[in-house]
Amino acid sequence: MHDDAPNSWESRAEASSFYGFTDLPSVRERGTVVLTHGEGPYVVDVHGRRYLDANSGLWNMVAGFDHPGLTKAAQDQYARFPGYHAFFGRMSDQTVMLSEKLVAVSPFERGKVFYTNSGSEANDTMVKMLWFLNAAEGRPQARKILTRINAYHGVTVVSASMTGKPYNSVFGLPLDGFIHLTCPHYWREGRADETEAEFTARLAQELEDTIAREGADTIAGFFAEPVMGAGGVIPPSEGYFQAIRPILRKHGIPLIADEVICGFGRTGEMWGSLTYDIQPDAIISSKNLTAGFFPMGAVILGPELADRMQAAADVIEEFPHGFTASGHPVGCAIALKAIDVIENEGLLENVRRLTPRFEAGLAQLADHPHIGEWRGKGLMGALEAVQDKATKTPFDGALSVSERIANTCTDHGLICRPLGQSIVLCPPFIMTDAQMDEMFEKLENALKQVFAEIT
Ligand SMILES: *Cc1c(COP(=O)(O)O)cnc(C)c1O
Repeated sequence: MHDDAPNSWESRAEASSFYGFTDLPSVRERGTVVLTHGEGPYVVDVHGRRYLDANSGLWNMVAGFDHPGLTKAAQDQYARFPGYHAFFGRMSDQTVMLSEKLVAVSPFERGKVFYTNSGSEANDTMVKMLWFLNAAEGRPQARKILTRINAYHGVTVVSASMTGKPYNSVFGLPLDGFIHLTCPHYWREGRADETEAEFTARLAQELEDTIAREGADTIAGFFAEPVMGAGGVIPPSEGYFQAIRPILRKHGIPLIADEVICGFGRTGEMWGSLTYDIQPDAIISSKNLTAGFFPMGAVILGPELADRMQAAADVIEEFPHGFTASGHPVGCAIALKAIDVIENEGLLENVRRLTPRFEAGLAQLADHPHIGEWRGKGLMGALEAVQDKATKTPFDGALSVSERIANTCTDHGLICRPLGQSIVLCPPFIMTDAQMDEMFEKLENALKQVFAEIT
């Protein structure tokens, strides 16, 4: 499997590339999968092997890997106007049209859009906006950011500080003033004698207590993914957003929905904020925004934050922030097409149509004695492996159970993602019934094989 020849793609990749978010022992043992192209939901490697990519690339290639309409939108825009910025009072027509479209499809009746190149930068931008806004409004001390343990908001210094993962300690992060509340995962975090409603109430109380302890006037905002993605696909506990929304409102703390994964249909509605009736003050978007065909992120401000940001910027007659490629015309043209594809080519309907089949497949695999829980919403789901189902005891970390399962899947032509001791599935919106059946069949075989090996 692993081609060690010095001129192999595997050796060249390892010699020349420094890997991020990669299990290095797996790469050393198995080599790198070097890909050349994709066909629908499949990707193909340099040896001609085909893999069903059950993670839509990195959650984002929702229209598959060869959508001709998206390719054509890119080609046409490259031919017309291949690049421009959005500084100094200039921007491309595509940028204007996309902003109008994003506000129109957002849950807001009106609003304003600011562009970045990534989700991390969009979260960073939102934090800078809140700091800028509070300073202009005479509250320069209102800088603290509330997020949750297991949240994933990105990798820049600020968005990594928002991310609630232990691995960021290797960078000496989080920065001061980033506060992580309990993850709203009832199955894992709920106490033995606690109902789900009591669990949710405890988390709401924790938020109240945290605000009281820190001082409401020191807090700039609360950021939350509707369903946590890279934390292991964790839908909120029942009534979670309904419990925390009024508390944040009472204390004047904006609620920012990080919709980088959930946005544009992943949960079966256009926004996770609609699925859970979150009523955010702003939305962070990326990934699906361009169906993964262009690196791009966006901050979508709802009416109140848009007005307050405008007033704050008017004070110094400028918002001193932006990226060279913010609002790139090709990215905007692709995003306009991506939204059109999701709305008008039946992708959103297909998410809804496939969801029962997806849930049934997950539920069936969760019958296995070493699967503790299945969870998910729409077309994002996870299976969590456990050594003991009754006590929810995880496997010994040294067994690398989820990496083994994912590697075995890869051997059988299925790409899925190990996350902690869970296996995450996030199929593209274009999947057919037959492809979904193929996904579950390959995953089931891999689970059986790995559990037989380690137990
Ligand atoms: C991926 C992700 C980000 C970061 O986006 P990048 O484009 O990788 O910087 C932020 N928030 C969420 C919820 C994400 O899933």
